[in-house]
Amino acid sequence: MKLAARRDLIDSSGIRKVFDLAATLKDPINLSIGLPDFDMPDELKDTAVEAIRAGKNRYTLTGGIPPLRKRIARYYEERGVTVEDNMVASGTSGGLLLVFLALLDPGDEVLIPDPYFVMYKALVRFIGAKPVLVDTYPDFRITRERLEAATTERTRLLILNSPANPTGATYSEEECRAAAEFAESRGIAVMSDEIYEEYVYDGEYVRPSAHLKEPIVVSGFSKSVAMTGWRIGWVAGPGDLIRAITDVQQYSFVCAPSVAQETALRAFDIDMGPTRDQFRARRDLIADGLLDAGYNVVRPGGAFYIFPEAPGGDGEAFVRKAIENNLLVVPGNVFSERNTHFRISFAASEEKLRAGLEVLRRLREMAATPT
Ligand code: PMP
Repeated sequence: MKLAARRDLIDSSGIRKVFDLAATLKDPINLSIGLPDFDMPDELKDTAVEAIRAGKNRYTLTGGIPPLRKRIARYYEERGVTVEDNMVASGTSGGLLLVFLALLDPGDEVLIPDPYFVMYKALVRFIGAKPVLVDTYPDFRITRERLEAATTERTRLLILNSPANPTGATYSEEECRAAAEFAESRGIAVMSDEIYEEYVYDGEYVRPSAHLKEPIVVSGFSKSVAMTGWRIGWVAGPGDLIRAITDVQQYSFVCAPSVAQETALRAFDIDMGPTRDQFRARRDLIADGLLDAGYNVVRPGGAFYIFPEAPGGDGEAFVRKAIENNLLVVPGNVFSERNTHFRISFAASEEKLRAGLEVLRRLREMAATPT
């Protein structure tokens, strides 16, 4: 069938190649998955069942059920984030699409720190705007200079993602302040994707949105309480933007899933402390193991990813070798213009992580031995 030209703007071949290769493995050590390895908490399941039985199965208001929107507003108020309004979206991904649709005209440029979450670049291109990638190697830091060099007359939006997928980088106070000052001085809007906010391992979370005068915040419960299949997220920000994206939602998603909204309301009260402690231990296990084995790697401050340099310098070739050794990781060029690194997800059991490290140690030694 003849498809729209726009269709060619979405390229998922990189990640598909990995999944195709993975399908050939029987019982791989799978460190490629971008979601928590625990199931959604029982109390949330109970809440969902109650909501279904209570008949909460119909359309909700376009912007979401009022108690959830109130709860989201309170959440940001308590954290010193100045957002006028919010709306509930179908997953954080749904929120991202709505923001791009309502904010960007064709040709508008969007600053995206590279490495980046794949969807940013794909969606920005898909709607006819232009992703401008800001190279942050080798330390994955954003600086005023790096942002400045990528900015033009057409720059409309800067995307921040801390903790970040795929690097696990968390931005410092100074970085957040510098990015905010820079964007505000140039009239560039800033969208902060804070979906990994519960996974911060070293001290308090430095919230990018708390440093902005007029932030657009997107977040959700996919990562914190493992509700990836429930498609619940939100956008908080300036009133006119929230009204605009609610209009777009009215003629597209209609509303976020009703039962998921009822459940999300309860998810705000889940204590993430024990999960965070467990994931911190995993972060240390994998980071120390990689450093020990001689990998060039930055210790992540958050999320559940680590992004080492591939021995030999070719991320794709290295991942092919890893897969031949039954280890599943993702080549860096899925998330980047560079093909020098690879992503490991440490949302996996300690046993799996140790097994993965064993393979990585061997591969590192092989790469170091001249043949
Ligand atoms: N932002 C980032 C940085 C992510 O890594 C993901 C999921 N991989 C999302 C947004 C989308 O999450 P959701 O399931 O809520 O759509």
